[in-house]
Amino acid sequence: MDHKIGVYIETGYGIGDALDIEALSAVATDEFGVAVCRADAYWNDPEKLAIIRNDISGEGLTAVIIAGPSPRVFQEEFAFEGAFTERINLREHVIWSHPANDEDTQMLAEDYIRMGITKASKYQDRPPFMEEVEKSILVIGGGMTGLTAALDAAAANYQVYLVEKEARLGGWANNFHKVFTGKPPYGRIVDSPIQEKIKAVNASDKIKVFTGQRVFSISGAPGMFDVVIRPDGDWIKKLDKEQNEWLAAKKAKEASGTEEEETPKPPAPEEAEAVGEEQEESIDFAHEKVRVGAVVLAAGWRPENLSGHENLGYGKYPDVVTSVQLEELATKGKITRPSDGKEVNSIAFIECNDGKTKHPLLYASFVNSLVTLKQAHYLRTTNPEGKAYIFYENMRTPGQYEKYYQDLQNDPGIFLSKGTPVSVSNGASSLTVELKDTLLGEKVKVNVDMVVLSTGMVPMTKDSAIVNLKYRQGPFLPENLYGFNDSHFICFPYETQRTGIYTAGCVRGPMDFQSCELDATGAALKAIQCVELTAQGKGVHPRAGDESFPEIFITRCTQCKRCTEECPFGAYDEKPDGTPLPNPTRCRRCAICMGSCPERIISFRDHSVDMIGSMVKSVHVPDEYAEKPRVIVFICENDALPAVDMAGIERLQYSAYVRFIPLRCLGNINLVWIADSLSKGIDGILLIGCKYGDDYQCHFVKGSELAEYRMGKISETLQRLVLEPDRIQVEQLAIDEYGKIPELIDGFIETLSEFDPNPYKGF
Ligand code: SF4
Ligand code: SF4
Repeated sequence: MDHKIGVYIETGYGIGDALDIEALSAVATDEFGVAVCRADAYWNDPEKLAIIRNDISGEGLTAVIIAGPSPRVFQEEFAFEGAFTERINLREHVIWSHPANDEDTQMLAEDYIRMGITKASKYQDRPPFMEEVEKSILVIGGGMTGLTAALDAAAANYQVYLVEKEARLGGWANNFHKVFTGKPPYGRIVDSPIQEKIKAVNASDKIKVFTGQRVFSISGAPGMFDVVIRPDGDWIKKLDKEQNEWLAAKKAKEASGTEEEETPKPPAPEEAEAVGEEQEESIDFAHEKVRVGAVVLAAGWRPENLSGHENLGYGKYPDVVTSVQLEELATKGKITRPSDGKEVNSIAFIECNDGKTKHPLLYASFVNSLVTLKQAHYLRTTNPEGKAYIFYENMRTPGQYEKYYQDLQNDPGIFLSKGTPVSVSNGASSLTVELKDTLLGEKVKVNVDMVVLSTGMVPMTKDSAIVNLKYRQGPFLPENLYGFNDSHFICFPYETQRTGIYTAGCVRGPMDFQSCELDATGAALKAIQCVELTAQGKGVHPRAGDESFPEIFITRCTQCKRCTEECPFGAYDEKPDGTPLPNPTRCRRCAICMGSCPERIISFRDHSVDMIGSMVKSVHVPDEYAEKPRVIVFICENDALPAVDMAGIERLQYSAYVRFIPLRCLGNINLVWIADSLSKGIDGILLIGCKYGDDYQCHFVKGSELAEYRMGKISETLQRLVLEPDRIQVEQLAIDEYGKIPELIDGFIETLSEFDPNPYKGF
């Protein structure tokens, strides 16, 4: 599309003093012939914005380019009706990071003007993806978290469907004798509020409750999920088995390192083979089917299996119980021994920890510490003569819970000590606990009536058929290392790697009652945000509000399935002929599929292979005698690009030979841009993305890692061009590592100085 472009060059913030503004304007007018080019100070002022608006209406501008401060500021001011806005960062990336009135700084600014105008001229105007969107919300799990999420969504006037597998609502909270208040004074425990929540849910006309039922399948996409709900039964065991077999095959394939092979097809039990509208006809069992816009997954937790702790008498002595069992015993009033029904006078609580010791429970957390303290409190309340011995490796009582811990420390009937349990043995009428590494530094033996083993909280979703997605990528939500569901290690709580499905409570991490309630509200808000943005044709986090979506020139598709395999969010299903079947409302707009497509047929209206390739080509490359190398830095816009802004704010200085091209994610990188850069005479290419690994910070889960993998394949291109492999470097950078930028960039320029100039300059 031909655009009528207006360029507005900022002269404030010192830009006018550091750069030759006339020469910059000449690039816009003489080289590109833009319709309007003005230079002035502080274009964000209302009076100046009025000038731009007049130009849009008077001159018929369709694109406005603001060349001034970082695009991260004044976003609302520079959003115009009738024209899209492109931003060029002359402040943080040019004059704050490079010397004023310097030839190289001026060349840098002029290149950014060229790249910005080139980018804007390639923008395609297309309508957003609009479908009829259902705004109701499915909540899976009727415990504390699920009930709260349902009530919150209903309070915001959304229809809610609440599915609970048990015959009654309440989940584990039904068995809790007491809970923490979460309010001052913090040294108290109170009756569980779960019954009030259940009453409120049952009284709500916005919440439809399905008890004794499970989700049989979820198909579709945000705004249009079709959910089949089925009475609980043996069918779930069959699904569990099939799905876990599939998962094992998938993991085996991944471990074998045969990346080129396709992921095994997900299981499709007879009843669940059909998708979409066909599904209704193929289901021949009692069920309900609801259409929802988003899902809150609050399926909760199950106790960690304590097998392996037989040395502590578990499974051997009836009076060695888990903390979950003790909670049930406490609801009956006085705590009695399972072996003989006698009232308990002494308990040893063995608090298992987070795996850092010889007595590991993988799923232990601060909740274990709190539950242990609470249960010691039960004993002291029901039996004033009772003695509670608490042995721990790490006592964790975050926030105001410290107050509760201090109160119990002052109780003369509660003995707290660090210590590693060695064994539990049976005496004549009591159990003997032996410990080492105690605070006294000696081995200690204690005789007690009962031993309570603290129990870790395993997310219910771990290897279980809970959501039963009918996605090409499989029925499970992708899990992190420990089986929790998330799509970002730090920034995006509640998000999963399946758009429109939000986790809350103990499927996301071990949590106490109060944390679960807060989490439920957060996830409900995310679900509401999802249905509202989807109804407007906009993307959700992290590119919330983005109206573009990937489009495929499908007639040139070779059915290689790379886009289907590499999309981190399962946005593509597959048509019978092997071509991708896009689900635009599942898409997070990361453009990883654009980078993965070898045919280069996936693009966005405001971000395409051609657009980025043309930006590369617009850079002026001085000839080899000028001794001014040129480097293209493909940089992730999520962490690394803001880090460059911060480097500018801190006035950190680095080489003016580099030109940054922001990508939505480093996984967006397409090998053709590398080839284009090198064959144009660019001397080196730096790729800067987010950190990856188990504690990944990549906003799109694995984009940064994929980029590194793809760069491993570039050697062929380099060999063909007879260029040194070190001309391409991939780096990871966290947002707070902006201080490393000068070293990173100047170090790369130093590396390039060891090579001759790229011989393709001038071609
Ligand atoms: S842009 Fe990202 S989320 Fe969307 S389809 Fe492509 S890879 Fe998937
Ligand atoms: S990556 Fe490109 S060529 Fe391969 S299946 Fe997807 S659209 Fe088709």
